[in-house]
Amino acid sequence: MEKSITPNQIKQNNRGLIYHYIYKNQKVSQQDISYDLRLSRPTVTANLNAMEQEGLIRKNGQIDTEYVGRKAAAYSISADYRISIGVEILKKEVKMIAVDLYGEKLDRTVCEITYEYEESYFKKVCEKILEFKDSLGAADEQILGIGFAMQALISPDRQTVLYGEILSCTGLSIEKFTRYLPYPCAFIHDADSAAVSEMWVSPDLTDAFYLSLSRHLGAAVISRGEILTGKHGHSSTIEHIRLSSGGALCYCGRRGCMDTLCSMSALLEDRENPEEFFEKVRRKETSCLERWDRFLDNLAEAINLLHLIYDTDFILGGYLAQYLCGEDLESLYERIRDLTPFAEEQDFLRISKMPRHNITIGAALPFVQTFLNGVAGR
Ligand SMILES: [Zn+2]
Repeated sequence: MEKSITPNQIKQNNRGLIYHYIYKNQKVSQQDISYDLRLSRPTVTANLNAMEQEGLIRKNGQIDTEYVGRKAAAYSISADYRISIGVEILKKEVKMIAVDLYGEKLDRTVCEITYEYEESYFKKVCEKILEFKDSLGAADEQILGIGFAMQALISPDRQTVLYGEILSCTGLSIEKFTRYLPYPCAFIHDADSAAVSEMWVSPDLTDAFYLSLSRHLGAAVISRGEILTGKHGHSSTIEHIRLSSGGALCYCGRRGCMDTLCSMSALLEDRENPEEFFEKVRRKETSCLERWDRFLDNLAEAINLLHLIYDTDFILGGYLAQYLCGEDLESLYERIRDLTPFAEEQDFLRISKMPRHNITIGAALPFVQTFLNGVAGR
């Protein structure tokens, strides 16, 4: 038997349609809403008044209307009605970013705090988060939540670290943070949060292999618009696929893992500045060029292997992305062509569209998404 829709559901639905119409079009008139959504003027007016009173939307000057041909009051959503904070926990520092409902950066800060599994550490990080929140002038009820991006695998409920060898934080519970913070908190695997950011800036992105080429290698498989997690939470942990039986020691205790060949730690020497390294590569200085060539060889090997398993687009992201150029993609294609049995089109590699702050922003975005899905009943 089909369920009938109650008048309340219709009301909620209209409210959702109107909110998302304004969200998407950014600045609209009452007439545009009414015409485009085929809703009566009184329905639109009542919803706009209610949402304006709640603070969800606001009047935003005047706008030419497409249908009436004269200026009318314009409405926009209040982008800072709710705020989400993304935090990245690293060995020697903690990065924080606050975003509005469009995922736009409001502010960011970096604190030099060395990670240790000590109560004093968690307390200090939370104090810094609260200071950061206060510096935004935000009220407690404005904060949707705090997402903690970790160089670690996370449980499906996002409350526990399942595997965290880089920081030695396996078993860490989110409760270590929530005891000091009056907001919802959740962990997110750092490569996943980078992929979340990528999907945010590319709404049409439904399927891809996202490679996070940062100090460490990470990856996320995007399938049908979702990030693949898997049965035990360790899907896409390509960093521990072994490309050789010898080679450098990986933090997992084995040798020759992709992490030891395709990460920025593998490319750069200790304390080497990536900017200077790439300037030298572009100037074709032999010592750097040799290392870069070797790195591209290894990366091509890794991508070819993954591409044989999953024939999809590959996004080169992470901290390295900002230094990549079209010439590097060409060079990778050439190498992959020599490795692969198929005559491939040169159309499956691309550089991330969001190379900066992607991990912290991606850690904040799930709270924004939940809010947008929920508040206005999409
Ligand atoms: Zn490994």
